[in-house]
Amino acid sequence: GPAIGARAVTKTYGNGVRAVRGVDLDVPVGEIRAIVGENGAGKSTLMKMFYGLEQPSSGEVLVGGRPRVLGGPASAIGLGVGMVHQNLMLVPSFTVAQNVVLGVEPGRRGRVDLKAAAETTARLAEESGLAVDPNARVDEVSVGMRQRTEILKVLHRGARVLILDEPTAVLTPQETEDLFAAVRRLRDGGMTVLFISHKLREVREISDRVSVMRAGSLVGTVDTSDATERS
Ligand code: ADP
Ligand code: ADP
Repeated sequence: GPAIGARAVTKTYGNGVRAVRGVDLDVPVGEIRAIVGENGAGKSTLMKMFYGLEQPSSGEVLVGGRPRVLGGPASAIGLGVGMVHQNLMLVPSFTVAQNVVLGVEPGRRGRVDLKAAAETTARLAEESGLAVDPNARVDEVSVGMRQRTEILKVLHRGARVLILDEPTAVLTPQETEDLFAAVRRLRDGGMTVLFISHKLREVREISDRVSVMRAGSLVGTVDTSDATERS
C-alpha cells in the first residue's frame, strides 16, 4: 500500500486561514513525489500534517496505510517519517556526529560517545553520498552541510519516509546535484521522498510524479516521465 496518504484532509488555522481544503493523496512506497504550488498554496501545512507538526481540522492522514495517531513529531519518528525543513533543528554547539546520533544513541549521563558517533556518521554519509565532516561543530559548517546533517539524522532514526521542504533553497548548484543523487539512491533503496519545491525545472529532474496545489486544494498529479495527467 501507499507510504503516505490523505483522505479529505482540511486544515483551518486559528486565524481562520483555510490552508488545506479537502486534499486526497496517495504516495506509493519508493516514489519521489514533488509537491509544487505558489507561496501560500498549503504545501508546508500538508507536509506538517504528515509529520505531526499540525493536526488536520477534518479528514484523515495515513502513514503506512494506517490512520496517523495524534502525538506530534515524536510519533512521526516512531512511524518512520522524517522531515527536514528550512528552519533546521540542530544543536549548534554540538558536532555533526553528535547531532546525527542525538536521541537515538545516548551514552552514559546522556552524553554520546564521540568516536562511535563519528564512525556511525561517516558510515551513513558514505552509504548515502551525503558528505559531512563528522567532527565539525554545526555552527561552524555551511548551511548545506547542516542540511546533510539533518538528513543523516533522519536516516539514522530509520525513517522510511523523508519529507524535504524547499531543500535546494539554501544549496549551491553542486550541492543540489549531490542532494538529488543521494535522494535517488535512497529511493532506489525503498525510501519514499516527498519534496516541496516551486522550481519546475528541478522538479522535472528529480521527481517520479508531481502533485500540484493551488489555494489549499490538490488540483492534479502528473507523471514526470511521460507527462500524462492522472488527476
Ligand atoms: P506553502 O507552503 O504552499 O507556501 P503554507 O502551508 O505555508 O503554504 O501556507 C498556507 C496558508 O496558511 C498561507 O495563507 C499561510 O499564511 C497560512 N499559514 C501557514 N502557517 C500558518 C500558521 N501557523 N498560522 C496561521 N496561518 C498559517
Ligand atoms: P514555511 O513555508 O516553511 O511554513 P514560513 O516562513 O512560511 O515557512 O513560516 C514560518 C512559520 O510561521 C511556520 O511555522 C508557519 O507555520 C508560520 N506561519 C506562516 N504563515 C503564518 C501566518 N499567516 N500566521 C501565523 N503563522 C504563520
